Amino acid sequence: MSIVKSVSGNPAPAAAVVSAPVAGHLADARALLDVAAEALDLDPELHELLTRPERSLTVNLPVVMDDGRLEMFTGFRVQHCGARGPFKGGIRYHPSVSLEETVALAMVMTWKCAVVDLPFGGAKGGVRCDPRRLSRTELERLTRRYTLAIHPLIGPQRDVPAPDVNTDARTMAWMMDTLSTIEGASALASVTGKPVGLGGSLGRASATGDGIAIVALELLREAGRRPEATSVAVQGFGKVGRAAAHAFARAGCRVVAVADVSGGVHRAEGLDLADLERYLAEAPNGLLAGYTAPGAEAISNETLLELPVDLLVPAALEGQINGENADRVRAWAVVEGANGPLTREADAILARRGITVVPDILANAGGVVVSHLEWVQDRQGLFWDEQRVDEALHHRMTKAFADVSAVARERNVTLREAAAILAVGRVAEAIRLRGIYP
Ligand code: NAD
Repeated sequence: MSIVKSVSGNPAPAAAVVSAPVAGHLADARALLDVAAEALDLDPELHELLTRPERSLTVNLPVVMDDGRLEMFTGFRVQHCGARGPFKGGIRYHPSVSLEETVALAMVMTWKCAVVDLPFGGAKGGVRCDPRRLSRTELERLTRRYTLAIHPLIGPQRDVPAPDVNTDARTMAWMMDTLSTIEGASALASVTGKPVGLGGSLGRASATGDGIAIVALELLREAGRRPEATSVAVQGFGKVGRAAAHAFARAGCRVVAVADVSGGVHRAEGLDLADLERYLAEAPNGLLAGYTAPGAEAISNETLLELPVDLLVPAALEGQINGENADRVRAWAVVEGANGPLTREADAILARRGITVVPDILANAGGVVVSHLEWVQDRQGLFWDEQRVDEALHHRMTKAFADVSAVARERNVTLREAAAILAVGRVAEAIRLRGIYP
């Protein structure tokens, strides 16, 4: 075995790997905190405290590759604010993972958990790597070594990781097994997003998409609009976009356009999602390109964002609606399925144009809501049927929407500002109640 130089951070982002938020994320996260701090007239010292993570861990991971070489990888786990409960946040595998990005994402998780009133603080983790270049066995060894390295911080009452970009239920199963092995005891509740056969929760896979549709339907209800008279375009047909499209269709909305990395498809009368699924099941690459149906036309991703629809759901990548195209968005409302799909500039343009935006920290919180339910079930050792999970998700998302909407009305601010005000207010309250130790 030869020791080679670290490859961490060197690989260029690969097209087949889901891309991750870019620089500026920390500035955006802080800007949201600043807006809330001003609105709440937050004590400047408390404001300053919240700009910093409680704890940041950098780990260097030696991993034996399949050909016998040893490669070094760098990973992080950042815990932003644990005032409201154990830390919670995903693990990301991507070449662009950095400490700064992880800090920003951990901060966003604090606000997301607080908006939906979960007893969790925000955290995030990741390993700088290009998972497309790693074999299954290399990924497993990397995951187990990373888990060992962050183990001192992790546990059901300390910090509970979950999947994020380029990690999934299999990754969580490896993490859970590694933690259990180290501790010599079952560590089921130390990780969420696990397979259902290993302490995962029913309903977790579709929870983020389901949650998007729940809050969007609440928005329609408040505006006196009927789902049957609502057209929807969804950008991104992955875990989030796909589940959201199906949830909208189940609610009676017309899903008129969807797109993935290969392009999109539009049908003004509404797409037949079952027909689309049959096509995808047989498509060798599992992509939408090449799909045809009577009345359907192929469209580009850019065109999808500019369609005259009632609801536009960007559920693919960050920064998709920006200063370049925000003036051309013709939707009545935008529901942020992805994290940060609007740049700050686009957000201001849409606000000026009177287009409602349901912010990511509210709209896509369904995943962490069901992660919380998974943690509860694991700790109880008692598992719920899907109906109970769905009802609990529905209850929490509708309550969160009502809370945010009430703040927006009372203060005459956007839903994004209202969500931040609500979240930061809840976190600040918890800090005040605890007091500063010692
Ligand atoms: P995914 O990898 O399952 O799906 C991503 C989708 O986006 C795929 O359909 C892909 O083809 C498409 N895509 C990639 N590049 C594109 C492009 N240039 N134009 C159009 N489509 C493109 O990922 P996901 O889990 O669905 O996550 C999507 C977003 O939602 C990310 O921002 C993620 O951080 C966020 N999010 C996910 C969850 C979750 O539970 N999975 C929770 C909260 C937020």
